[in-house]
Amino acid sequence: MPAVTTRKDPYAEVLLNLPARPLDRPFHYCVPEELDQDAVPGVRVKVPFSGRTVEGIVLRRMNSAEVDSVKPLIDVLDKETLISPQLMSLAMWMAEYYLCTRAEALRCVLPTGVRWENDEIIELIRDAAKGPQWDQIRHSSPAMMRVLRILLKESPISRKKLERMMKSGSLASILRQLESEQWIVRTDKAHEGVKPKSQRFALLTNTGKEAASSGLLRRRAPRQSQVLELLVSHGGSLSETTIRTHLGITGDLFKRLEDKGYITRQDEEIQRDPYAGYNFEKSQDLCLNQEQDLALRQIEQRIQSGESHSFLLHGVTGSGKTEVYLQAIRFARSLDLQAIVLVPEIALTPQTVERFKSRFGEEVAVLHSRLSAGERYDQWRRIRSGEASVVVGARSALFAPFTRLGLIIIDEEHETSYKQSENPKYHARDTAWMRCRLENAVLVLGSATPSLETYYKAEQGQITKLTLPERVTGETLPKVTIVDMREELKAGNRNPFSRVLQERIRATLAEGRQSIIFLNRRGFSTFVLCRECGLVLRCPHCDVSLTYHAGSRQLVCHYCQYTQACPDLCPQCKSHHIRYFGIGTERVEEEAKKLFPDLRVLRMDMDTTGRKGDHERILAQFRSHKADMLVGTQMIAKGLDFENVTLVGVITADTALNFPDYVSAERTFQLMTQVAGRAGRGEYPGDVVIQTYAPDHYSIELSKNHDYNGFYTEEMQYRSQLRYPPLSKVVSVLIWGPNEKAVIATAEQMARLIESAIPSAEEFHLMGPVPALMSRIKKNYRWQMHLLGYGGIHPAEIFRDHLQEMYQMAKQAGTHVSLDVDPIGMA
Ligand code: ADP
Ligand code: ZN
Ligand code: ZN
Repeated sequence: MPAVTTRKDPYAEVLLNLPARPLDRPFHYCVPEELDQDAVPGVRVKVPFSGRTVEGIVLRRMNSAEVDSVKPLIDVLDKETLISPQLMSLAMWMAEYYLCTRAEALRCVLPTGVRWENDEIIELIRDAAKGPQWDQIRHSSPAMMRVLRILLKESPISRKKLERMMKSGSLASILRQLESEQWIVRTDKAHEGVKPKSQRFALLTNTGKEAASSGLLRRRAPRQSQVLELLVSHGGSLSETTIRTHLGITGDLFKRLEDKGYITRQDEEIQRDPYAGYNFEKSQDLCLNQEQDLALRQIEQRIQSGESHSFLLHGVTGSGKTEVYLQAIRFARSLDLQAIVLVPEIALTPQTVERFKSRFGEEVAVLHSRLSAGERYDQWRRIRSGEASVVVGARSALFAPFTRLGLIIIDEEHETSYKQSENPKYHARDTAWMRCRLENAVLVLGSATPSLETYYKAEQGQITKLTLPERVTGETLPKVTIVDMREELKAGNRNPFSRVLQERIRATLAEGRQSIIFLNRRGFSTFVLCRECGLVLRCPHCDVSLTYHAGSRQLVCHYCQYTQACPDLCPQCKSHHIRYFGIGTERVEEEAKKLFPDLRVLRMDMDTTGRKGDHERILAQFRSHKADMLVGTQMIAKGLDFENVTLVGVITADTALNFPDYVSAERTFQLMTQVAGRAGRGEYPGDVVIQTYAPDHYSIELSKNHDYNGFYTEEMQYRSQLRYPPLSKVVSVLIWGPNEKAVIATAEQMARLIESAIPSAEEFHLMGPVPALMSRIKKNYRWQMHLLGYGGIHPAEIFRDHLQEMYQMAKQAGTHVSLDVDPIGMA
């Protein structure tokens, strides 16, 4: 082994890019002298591994290796790190905390579109065969000479090909040197398919201008003449796509025009800015009220101090939280620090973006899942280059590649969409907390209805609580009326709209104002039943009933998308008495139209927002008052701010409440409070009607007066009695597979393993195994169990040493297992 001990950290810990779970651990290699500068954490490398060459990523450099015989790295594949050391540490923390593989965690922090097996393009930029340097290289570095010779024959060339032609040795240091001496340029091919986008433009020449005005061309080649005329009338330059669509041209006219010297053609890079069409007006910092000012000053102090700290900004909708965020960002920027703002995907509307863009202009980058890969890549580059220093985005924007992070803001922190449902099943709130700790940044969690976890931490003093008690403009919160639907039934009203709600809709319509009707279910009805024999039509693959969609006259499974035509006869008893029960959004829309023939209704749910842009289109129509009523699912419950909406109706508040889970009361309270916040945001007072079969339930009763503290007290009593979170920590285990017996057997075997691993019965409690609430989905049977931890040790600790064994167990039985650390609820 070469003597490498004189250098600092001569070893590297490398994570291999191999899918096998048992190999998801670091392996040690030594770093050859010539790769010393390049093998930094976050670059991809080539390493020898059991007789093969495989790719990996450097996790960190080390002073010593744990094994005796360490092999050397073969090569480094990136010219600069893709991941900052802090983001690297964050990914390793995620893998450990959320019990996922390191590779899965790294995927979160790697830029979108970068896959491990990527490549770069190398291009020779000097006439290398001449000059004294050429001779010098020939003498001093034969390897470099070989590279140059290959490049003289073929340039540009892909790095992979170059490697093959070189056959042996490390290219990294040679390429670095050639680049620094400006022999070559290297471009990342990592984003193939999402490369910077360019468009071809046609530019009118003087000859072309003359030809356009001569009658000759018009007679001989009318199409060509049209193009030139169009160019003349548009200042001499247009993109070819624009010309094509304008004139309906298909053939390759541009080539001929170029050959004749009428035009020149030129590629211009265009930024795929998803907000290109919007015009953002500049806005100024507002003069804060006393509470806002107090909150801002505390946040500023912590940003200034450069120590990590967490805040809860608790304030009702309209209390001025966003203004505090904006000014906190302004302060961070004044120290040249960067900021990330997370909002729920659903609330990431042009309006939300506008508030940040209008204050910080071009400094703002926007990231969300509806962006195309190209748009995402462009935004990522702007962040990476430092051009953007404020990121507004959904959950994954948390991993924005900033290196001078000062502030993370999470608006509507209680939103469950901050938890990712696939591996790594991270929660953005807790992961943000960790990122802030690693980067000495400040975390601000904002909400009108904080999650119990966060509020509990604030009560315990782990988070500083800041309160904005009132709406800024002094508007009163909307008046909430609760309607007992049992009374409606007794009075003979079977319509989904109660009499009170009908009356309010009529009045709102008469005043020329708008209403929003909220319902947690799409489709027309929630189940289809035969009155004769009681058969409920179910999905053949899942343990759920099928939903009737009137528009398409089809029955649809909302879990696996199974679809069948609606039968005329009962498939069991052949009777005609098939009836639809339960209410979906489609049905509400139809009933509303029946009750109010003049009412213009828009519906927004997953069925009407399938295509990109649908969401914005519907909202824009509603905003410009093209409709009087908007009917929708939880998609419309949040973040919408319509001045002209004075009525909000909830068809049934009980949907969430009836869900058998310990978090259902919290969900209901949050939802009702959010929905109520939609009304009366303009100058007119708002009116909210909540329909329910459980008017006395505290989650509904207390939302009437927007009484968060009352709710927190009640709910904490219930949680502490049953020792549910936040008074305990939970890990859920789900076992599934096509064979029910095998699933049950695996579940029981795992339960025994977990029981035997628990150190003390007082501190841990295993619930289950039991069939999951949805006991069969997509032909798979599902069983689950939950390990609750009451003491200082997180139950995830119990699993950490047994993961291998558990995956093995599942595999042998032909089943699957997945773990969820800190799950949202336990259903
Ligand atoms: P939240 O984020 O809590 O819903 P916002 O920050 O959106 O509250 O504030 C609600 C409205 O009040 C917005 O129109 C905002 O521009 C305005 N506003 C906020 N703070 C002030 C202030 N200090 N003075 C005047 N208007 C304000
Ligand atoms: Zn029947
Ligand atoms: Zn199904």
